[in-house]
Amino acid sequence: MARNWEENIKKVLISREDIQKRVKELGEQITNDLKNDDAPLVVIGILKGSVIFMSDLVREIKLPLTMDFMEVSSYGDGFESTRDIKIIKDLEHSVRGKNVLVVEDIVDSGLTLKKILQMIGKRGPKQVLLCTLLNKEVRREAKDLEVQYKGFEIGDEFVSGYGLDYMQEYRNIPYVCTMDIKINE
Ligand code: 5GP
Ligand code: MG
Ligand code: MG
Repeated sequence: MARNWEENIKKVLISREDIQKRVKELGEQITNDLKNDDAPLVVIGILKGSVIFMSDLVREIKLPLTMDFMEVSSYGDGFESTRDIKIIKDLEHSVRGKNVLVVEDIVDSGLTLKKILQMIGKRGPKQVLLCTLLNKEVRREAKDLEVQYKGFEIGDEFVSGYGLDYMQEYRNIPYVCTMDIKINE
């Protein structure tokens, strides 16, 4: 089996350059929206898919901020949502009175994020804002979920790279793509 991932790429959907440009725009937008707000800002990354995006995004936000992480189980290694989420790693710090920016790699059905928001909402933040790199609007089931910052709209296909996995691997691909992996080659 080929271990060089470049041979397993089907199609590059969003290039490194396009991601970089859009991340910069999102950072500017977030900076402008929060620059006159005195409450502390905490950026919360949902592990593990958001780490690459978040590390680029925070460097485009020109405000003091702290970072925290939460990991929940939803998809496991498969491709379909189990509908049930469990906290695997909780936040380390209190969000009380803070502006919370939740960063996700992709919003699909939106059910995971809706549950995460309910949990965070109960802990007394000043406000909770959502930022996702990718948005699959056509797949949305949580119709009332409001996502303030969206990087790119994509269709109903399974994507990998720039933090998003393919069976836990390939998060390190520097762009967003679809894959064609031949197993047992
Ligand atoms: P939701 O609860 O919105 O249906 O699922 C959200 C999570 O499922 C995402 O944060 C992501 O981890 C995973 N997911 C949804 N679509 C994709 C996809 O196309 N590729 C990958 N790698 N993960 C996805
Ligand atoms: Mg995710
Ligand atoms: Mg996954």
